[in-house]
Amino acid sequence: MTQAGYRVFIPDLTFYQQTVACQFACPVRTDGRAYVTAISRGEYERAYLIARETNPFASTCGWVCGAPCEAACRRGKIDAPIAIRALKRFVNDRYGVYLGESGEPRQPPAWPAYVGPTNAFDLGNTTFPTSRSGLVASRHSSLVTRHTRIAIVGAGPAGLSCAHDLALLGHDVTIFDSAPVAGGMLRLGVPEYRLPRELIDLEIQSILALGPTLKVNQALGRDFGLADLRRDFDAVFIAIGTYRSRGLNVEGEHLDGVLRAVDFLINVNLGGYNLDLGKRVLVVGGGNVAMDVARTAARLGHPAQSGGDLEVALDVARAARRLGATQEVRCLVVEDRSEMLADPFEVAEAEEEGITIHNHVAPKRIVGAGGRAFGVETLDVARAFDERGRFNPQLTPNTERVWECDSVIVSIGQTGELEWVKPDDGLEVTPRGTLALDRETLMTTAPGVFAGGDIAFGPRLIINAVADGQRAARGIHAYLQNVRPRLVRKGFFTAVPKREYSNVGPLRDYLRWSRRQPPALPVERRIGVARVELGFDQATAREQGGRCLICSLNPIFDGDLCILCNGCVDVCPTDCLKLVPMSEVAGGAWRVTGDSSHDTRHAAHSAMLLDPTRCIRCGLCAARCPTEAVRMETFRFTEEVLFEKNLEGGRTA
Ligand SMILES: Cc1cc2nc3c(=O)[nH]c(=O)nc-3n(C[C@H](O)[C@H](O)[C@H](O)COP(=O)(O)OP(=O)(O)OC[C@H]3O[C@@H](n4cnc5c(N)ncnc54)[C@H](O)[C@@H]3O)c2cc1C
Repeated sequence: MTQAGYRVFIPDLTFYQQTVACQFACPVRTDGRAYVTAISRGEYERAYLIARETNPFASTCGWVCGAPCEAACRRGKIDAPIAIRALKRFVNDRYGVYLGESGEPRQPPAWPAYVGPTNAFDLGNTTFPTSRSGLVASRHSSLVTRHTRIAIVGAGPAGLSCAHDLALLGHDVTIFDSAPVAGGMLRLGVPEYRLPRELIDLEIQSILALGPTLKVNQALGRDFGLADLRRDFDAVFIAIGTYRSRGLNVEGEHLDGVLRAVDFLINVNLGGYNLDLGKRVLVVGGGNVAMDVARTAARLGHPAQSGGDLEVALDVARAARRLGATQEVRCLVVEDRSEMLADPFEVAEAEEEGITIHNHVAPKRIVGAGGRAFGVETLDVARAFDERGRFNPQLTPNTERVWECDSVIVSIGQTGELEWVKPDDGLEVTPRGTLALDRETLMTTAPGVFAGGDIAFGPRLIINAVADGQRAARGIHAYLQNVRPRLVRKGFFTAVPKREYSNVGPLRDYLRWSRRQPPALPVERRIGVARVELGFDQATAREQGGRCLICSLNPIFDGDLCILCNGCVDVCPTDCLKLVPMSEVAGGAWRVTGDSSHDTRHAAHSAMLLDPTRCIRCGLCAARCPTEAVRMETFRFTEEVLFEKNLEGGRTA
């Protein structure tokens, strides 16, 4: 709730920031609201630049981001969230990874060069992104005062985003990766039918074009140790992800035919779709990774490679089925359907492709003969979580049954590998098996050694890894240049004249349009790496963008001008306004502007309460107000990182 009573208006920046929920929920603060509305108005290039400016993996995220913005979207409380991720894909597919005139990947122009709001009141692009502000700072302040060499271990989204920002700040960066290719889980884990490989290639190229050197087939712990890196480099960023699949700890887990999720996906992603799992596959687990595993297993023996002829591949797939390729994939899941960790959308796609989900079963042992698994014995699960909401399955005795199969793939989570840590490294390992670190700078307990991404926080989303890379870059820059990063937040309110309300607020039909999923490839054509999601066409993208409630637009109340006529309350179509005596306001600690006593109770005064989650920004309250005590104002916030000289000492260069 916000409040404006008599002569009271104390803008609370955090409150207004949180009101633009999509942007606030995004770890890199991408202004979803701004690009979605730009799309609704046909301003595609502007939308593209807004979507790209905070995120060097914008194209990738357009295809597969876990989209915390959508989970936070206010429209979700009315019917369904805006399809923000698919709209990001729409503009990124249209313009591609930012390419220079001769076609080489490069970075979009710096923020001030392209931020020109086409509508003076929709200040569109609302953030000085923390990463790009580093670029601005380095250009204008020459902050890199000495030549520094930084080693990054791990070329996933965390390592590459860190390399991106450090390169923009002028540092000399070398990235080491144990795999033969860069990209981390984007390439080794996420299946190609969900994320095109040429897109990953382009995004990586555009980062490497800024200067970092990439060295593949170089493993920390095998080819070099942390001590070697600390000797040869000024700082180290460890972003090696989580590659050890959790085990079930049951009898039979080491039989032939029992695979671990990550090993299986790496095998398929690097080796093609030619593994032989037999006809019946059981996947143990019900998370998003398990869905990827199950859907990938269902495609085995149907290798349609990117760029190949789909018709020919379909014929091959039909023949493969006749000859005995995988025919049945079932998932055994402990939780109830409603408790499954996988997104409902991922489960639905798996089921569409013929995968069967069996809930309320827990593996007791893997049964086999002659050293090879032929089934999983389970017990029924009465409930997966206890009264305190902890995962604590209650098994029903004497409910054993065996699910026969040719292969089992265990997909119940991943952890990091830290065997390379030596006592002399000075790294503290937490009881959770992650590296202890400062959450602001991401520096570990060893000076000059930073860590981020999944290895530091456990498996999360791509966009969290990108944010960690950006944060680590700031931490490393500050450490090496003896400066201190300071996050400066600013909020800007701009009054909208009445005649402009209809141009700035939600579009006319916004409540009539319902959320649409992007179209998908027909199920019978989903083989091998054929892309499943097809993307919005232009008309649908505009309509879907037009569903946005424009949370950056707010009614602002001026108590000085209010004559208590209640007209705004009467006219409000969603009943989200309420004029109440101050004494009824819960908490009661209101400060009244101009009242030096700061007396916290002013029973004689009134307060206007607004429920921003229900407000549809129609502007009727402001239009109705006879005294202009209610105005519509747009809000934008900026977050900028400034690097200040560290006067408290610290590391000297
Ligand atoms: C199957 C699967 C599907 C997923 N799908 C999605 C999705 O749709 N949307 C989403 O938002 N997130 C998804 N995620 C999560 C997302 O991929 C990760 O959170 C993200 O990639 C983590 O980034 P990172 O840079 O920390 O680690 P990674 O991406 O894992 O990169 C780590 C890099 O370090 C390298 N490395 C490992 N050990 C060493 C070593 N000892 N020496 C040198 N290099 C090493 C690896 O080869 C790798 O390149 C998925 C994850 C999986 C497993």
